[in-house]
Amino acid sequence: MALLSGIEATRYLNGRSGKVPGTGLVHAPFALLPMSFPKVYWRQACELAPIFSELVDRVSLDGTFLQESLSRTKKVDAFTHRLLEIHSKMLEINKKEDIRLGLHRSDYMLDAETKSLFQVELNTISSSFPGLSCLVSELHRNLLNHYGKHVGLDSRKVPGNTAVSRYAEALAKAWSEYNNSSAVVMFVVQNEERNMYDQYWLSEVMKEMHGVTTIRKTLAEIDAEGRVSSDGTLTVNGHTVAVVYFRAGYSPSDYPSESEWRARFLMEQSAAIKCPSISYHLVGTKKIQQELAKPNVLERFIDNKDDIAKLRKCFAGLWSLDNEDVVKSAIEKPELYVLKPQREGGGNNIYGDDVRETLFRLKSEGSEELSAYILMQRIFPTASLAYLVREGVCHRGDAISELGIYGAYLRNKDKVIMNDQCGYLMRTKVSSSNEGGVAAGFAVLDSIYLN
Ligand code: ADP
Ligand code: MG
Ligand code: MG
Repeated sequence: MALLSGIEATRYLNGRSGKVPGTGLVHAPFALLPMSFPKVYWRQACELAPIFSELVDRVSLDGTFLQESLSRTKKVDAFTHRLLEIHSKMLEINKKEDIRLGLHRSDYMLDAETKSLFQVELNTISSSFPGLSCLVSELHRNLLNHYGKHVGLDSRKVPGNTAVSRYAEALAKAWSEYNNSSAVVMFVVQNEERNMYDQYWLSEVMKEMHGVTTIRKTLAEIDAEGRVSSDGTLTVNGHTVAVVYFRAGYSPSDYPSESEWRARFLMEQSAAIKCPSISYHLVGTKKIQQELAKPNVLERFIDNKDDIAKLRKCFAGLWSLDNEDVVKSAIEKPELYVLKPQREGGGNNIYGDDVRETLFRLKSEGSEELSAYILMQRIFPTASLAYLVREGVCHRGDAISELGIYGAYLRNKDKVIMNDQCGYLMRTKVSSSNEGGVAAGFAVLDSIYLN
């Protein structure tokens, strides 16, 4: 039962799959053996986690920077527009978030040519797989304990993965800062959740290790059942909510009607701790990633010069589309770039000839729509042989990997209660695939073999 995730195909077998636990299950896709990864880059990625979390916190406090950086995107991207509207309403009422919880995952790829660890993106909302990634690390250690000798691999070189226990700890500590023993942690979930076991795993650890009760609600349910009292207390179906933990709400499809937006706004107004707050959510957009990579921008937020150098070292080339030279270059050599909209969850980026066509079309239309995207240098990791298991069938092929490092950040006013690297997620995909999400159907869950 360890590696389960209700997925799409099984819905044909049972209409309740994806809604009800235990119905229409299929294992999450995984790699049979851990992927080799150099220790120096692993250390570098781990070391960056608390620095990125601090950066997110600092940037989140600069409402003007967020609004200005996203102002042109706002005009052409309706989803970002709605998020920014909520953000500006919070600025108007001078809403302060004293207790701030970030559960981030910074994703990296190793670029073969430059031998650099480059950040792909920083997820500040709904960072997935803290639960299942630990299970895959354990699966690999276990397999190598039994059979490692036959393949010349040593189980001790698979680092232990603490993601689920540390995330549960961070959520429990936030709950404890809220200081109401009868309150709950609310998981905001999608209506039909393909990845519910990753979330249940976290809930279980919170209950078992910390005695914290969790409830699961969709945005529509929160709209129907949620209230904010005059002192800011959020209650949903009679439960006082200490922490709102978003595992939905990052994609336009999570907001099919006004009801879902009302729910988002209701929660944001409340005194509950939001993971993430609207500001943290916006800091995680691709546009902000690109703005932070501009010269002298990190310096506005971080004092420590060493930290700035460490951050900058992992930035790949990032450009806004008002850079004519880069747009021209991307039309000439589209294979060297990725064109990214302000979206999350995988499957949204544009690659190869489609980059050329899209840029060409938007440019010739003289379209403002260019501001909906950013351009990023394409990272090319070295491919190696992997065995990928999907729906019980093992596929052998050349594969590339993306390493995610979880970070948890909790502060209450001036006191930083937690700012740690919390474990990892390795995802591996066949090298011919552009995109990388596991839930989106491109990659499989993996772990790392340090060398
Ligand atoms: P999302 O928020 O949708 O996950 P990402 O920026 O992580 O967006 O992009 C999705 C996937 O596309 C990544 O997991 C990775 O496989 C691929 N990708 C993104 N950026 C790059 C890049 N610069 N070079 C190569 N592949 C990339
Ligand atoms: Mg993302
Ligand atoms: Mg991603």
